[in-house]
Amino acid sequence: MKILLLNCPYKGPIIRDNYCCFTSKSGYIWPPVDLLYLSGMLKGRSELKVIDAVAEKINWRETYKIIDSFDPEVIIALTGTVSYQVDLNGLKALKNRKIYLIGNTPCFRPEFFLKKYSFVGGIIHNFFNPSIVDYLIGKNTECESISYRNKDHSLHLGKINCLKPMSVVRLAKPPQYHLFPIGKYSTPIIRNKPMMTAMTSFGCPFNCKFCIASALTYYRRDIRDLKKEFDEMKKSGVKEIFFEDSTFNTYIPYLGEICNLLIREKYGFSWSANVHSFNLSEPLLKLMKKAGCHTVQIGVESGNPGILKEYAPSKGLTRLENSFDLCKKVGIRTLGYFIIGFPKDNVETAQETIDFAKKLDPNFASFSIMTPDYGTRLYEEVAAKKMFTDNGIKNFDSSEKAIIKNKNFPRKNQDEMLKKAYRDFYGRPSKLLSYLLDYKYTILYVKNGLRLLAKKIL
Ligand code: SF4
Repeated sequence: MKILLLNCPYKGPIIRDNYCCFTSKSGYIWPPVDLLYLSGMLKGRSELKVIDAVAEKINWRETYKIIDSFDPEVIIALTGTVSYQVDLNGLKALKNRKIYLIGNTPCFRPEFFLKKYSFVGGIIHNFFNPSIVDYLIGKNTECESISYRNKDHSLHLGKINCLKPMSVVRLAKPPQYHLFPIGKYSTPIIRNKPMMTAMTSFGCPFNCKFCIASALTYYRRDIRDLKKEFDEMKKSGVKEIFFEDSTFNTYIPYLGEICNLLIREKYGFSWSANVHSFNLSEPLLKLMKKAGCHTVQIGVESGNPGILKEYAPSKGLTRLENSFDLCKKVGIRTLGYFIIGFPKDNVETAQETIDFAKKLDPNFASFSIMTPDYGTRLYEEVAAKKMFTDNGIKNFDSSEKAIIKNKNFPRKNQDEMLKKAYRDFYGRPSKLLSYLLDYKYTILYVKNGLRLLAKKIL
C-alpha cells in the first residue's frame, strides 16, 4: 500500500506538531514529530513518501503534481488550529484517496471534522501508539487511537490517552529521516546543522491549566529504541537535536540514562530541550552539558505570582530565578517562554511579566499571546464564560492576535503589550551586543532578528 505523509502547504512558515500549531515568529521550522514517528512505524509496512510542503516552500498546485505522480491510496495530512480551513480546502480536491487528519484541532474535535468533511476518512489521535499501523494498512478494522466512521455510518471516536501513565512504550523502528528534507529545518538557537527533532517521552505530569501537554498522559520510551534512533540519526548526518518532550527532565533517572547513552556512544550531537524549573540541579545540568546540551527552554509563563498560582501552579518566581541562575553558572544557554493575556492578566501584570523576563535575562525570550488550545481546562473555562471573540471552531495563533475578551485588558492592549515585550527585551544594547559577540552565529541571529523585527516589533 502506498501512503503519503503530508505537512500541508501554507503561505508562510508554520509549526504544526505535537498537538500545537502556530506561525513561526521569525521564520524557523523544525521537523514535525508526528510525521517523523509515523514514518518509523510505517517502515516495512507500506511504500511511504513524505511531503513537507512548508519546509519545501511549495504550494498546493506543486503538491498535487507530486501526489499525482506518487499516486498514494492513503494520505495522512498534518493540520492545526492556525490553518485547518485552508488545509481542508486543499485536501478536498484530492479524489479517490483515503484521507486521515492528524494535528491538534481534529484530534480534539473529531466529531466536528468527520461530520463536516465527508472526504475525511479518519483522525489519528496518538502518533506514539504503534497499534494504529494495522488499521491504516487495512489489517485491522478497529483502533482505539483513531476516529472513523463505522460501517453503519455511526462514529467511532478515538482516544489520545490509551497507554498507562508512566508506562514504557516501544517504538522499535526509528523514523525514516531520509524521507524528510532535513537540510531545510532550522531554529534560531541551533549550534549545528542539519537538525532533527526527537521525543523521548509523551505528555506532562504537571498541571498547567492552559497547556495541552497537561491533558496528555505521561509515558516514556524504551532506552533501547532511543539508541536505535540516535544510531539512525548519526547515519543520516544529523548533527543537532531538539528534544521536543514537553518536559525533558520529568523523570531524572531516565534523563540520566539518555545523557549517559549520548556520552558513552560518542554521537557528538549538540542539542536543546524543553525543561521544567521544578527539578533542575547543578549536577544534572553538568551531565546534560557533557552530553551535548547547549540550550534549555524553560516555560516561565508570567512574572506575576498570582497568575502563576492560578495557571501554572508548579512554577514559582524564586524557583524560576534559581533555575536560570544555575544554567548561567553551568554555562548552558536559556530560552524563556512568556505569555501575555491570561484571563486574569491586565496591563500591570503583563508589565510584570516583561520586567521578569528582563530580570531573568535568558539568552532568548519567546513571548506569545494566550490562546487556550482545544483540550485544555482553560479552553473550557474561557468558552463557558463566553470570553472568546467568537464561539465556533476557529483559528488560533499564539504568535498573532489576542482572542480572549477581557474587560480589564482589552485585546488591543494585549497585542500592544506583546510587541512591547519584544521591543523591551531585545531592544536592550546589552542583548544586541551579546548576539554580536557570539560571532560564529551572528548571521543566524541577524536573519532571525530581522524577521522578528518585521513580524512582531514594527
Ligand atoms: S506548561 Fe510545561 S510544565 Fe506546564 S503542563 Fe505544559 S509542558 Fe508541563
